[in-house]
Amino acid sequence: MARAHNFNAGPAILPVDVVKETAEAVIDFNGTGMGLMEVSHRSKEFDAVMLEAQKDLLTIMNLSPDEYDVLFLGGGASMQFLMVPYNFMHTQADYILTGVWAKKAYKEGKFFGKANVAATSEDTNFNYLPKSFNFAPDADFVHITTNNTIYGTEWKSLPDTGNVPLVADMSSDFLGMNFDYSKCSLIYAGAQKNVGPSGVTVVVIKKSWLEEKGKKDIPTMMNYKTHTDNGSMFNTPPCLPVFAVGRTFKWIMRNGGVAAIQANNEKKAKVIYDVIDAYPDFYKGAVKNAEDRSLMNITWNLNTPELESKFISEAKALNMIGLKGHRSVGGVRASVYNACPIESAQALAKFMEEFYKNNK
Ligand SMILES: *Cc1c(COP(=O)(O)O)cnc(C)c1O
Repeated sequence: MARAHNFNAGPAILPVDVVKETAEAVIDFNGTGMGLMEVSHRSKEFDAVMLEAQKDLLTIMNLSPDEYDVLFLGGGASMQFLMVPYNFMHTQADYILTGVWAKKAYKEGKFFGKANVAATSEDTNFNYLPKSFNFAPDADFVHITTNNTIYGTEWKSLPDTGNVPLVADMSSDFLGMNFDYSKCSLIYAGAQKNVGPSGVTVVVIKKSWLEEKGKKDIPTMMNYKTHTDNGSMFNTPPCLPVFAVGRTFKWIMRNGGVAAIQANNEKKAKVIYDVIDAYPDFYKGAVKNAEDRSLMNITWNLNTPELESKFISEAKALNMIGLKGHRSVGGVRASVYNACPIESAQALAKFMEEFYKNNK
């Protein structure tokens, strides 16, 4: 299969195996004589897909099924911006504002109570991660965005929030950074950055938090309990995306788990950051402090927008796709998610060297 060097920010590259296995299942699912899109979600074959994906994810995250539930929901990560406070904000919650996505979550929080800004880096358009927090001791939860897709910053560990439950939007570094996931009471991730196609959002939720603090008097579909009580099959789940996500979990397990994925991500990112650091007057890393740099989304500028356009179009001619920075910040962005092979990072680094020599 001829594959592009795919640096798309999302939907994004998936492991070749996952693409192939999903393509096969679309045509004939488990020898049933029916395609994956044509079978009942209540069939025993699909039920097994759902149960296995849930079980594998908890294994990968080193979480106990006695303590956590896994849900596969529709509505994107954006729906979680509102479902989290709908279920859990009784009076106030703390938000760590490190980018556009974090701000969108905060905006939804304000519909349900007092949303506090525990820390922000908006003063310099989110080009660093704040180092201290102003947490309210009796907040209902703290919300963090672990990787800031647009700006290229990523937390390397989760903050200590004491007794206050931590909620993490891990959409763009899901299973790419070996966090201590047990620090979180709720984790959500739109699948399309790191683990599957668009159309499904993974939610990992601590059972005791939901039992003790989840609001009871909210509409059915918005209530996490509806979904945990029904094994994420209260209504028809996004069957095809769930299948693909399940195959990605298998791929992660075959490749040594999150620690091995992270080590590989570190290698890939280094290949590109090394070129940025070698020519700092030419490639201007967008993130202020090296320790805040993302392993997933690598962002930089060139000296003029014209030079950036030239860079992006010459790269495209070499089959390197998706390098244009987000429309809100411009510049260049290479998204090197879990499934992006090191060969693609190396090809990009080589091109960056050549482009420097020809345009310095
Ligand atoms: C892409 C992204 C989202 C939005 O995801 P949707 O599934 O499109 O709603 C939210 N948070 C982060 C960190 C993202 O990268």
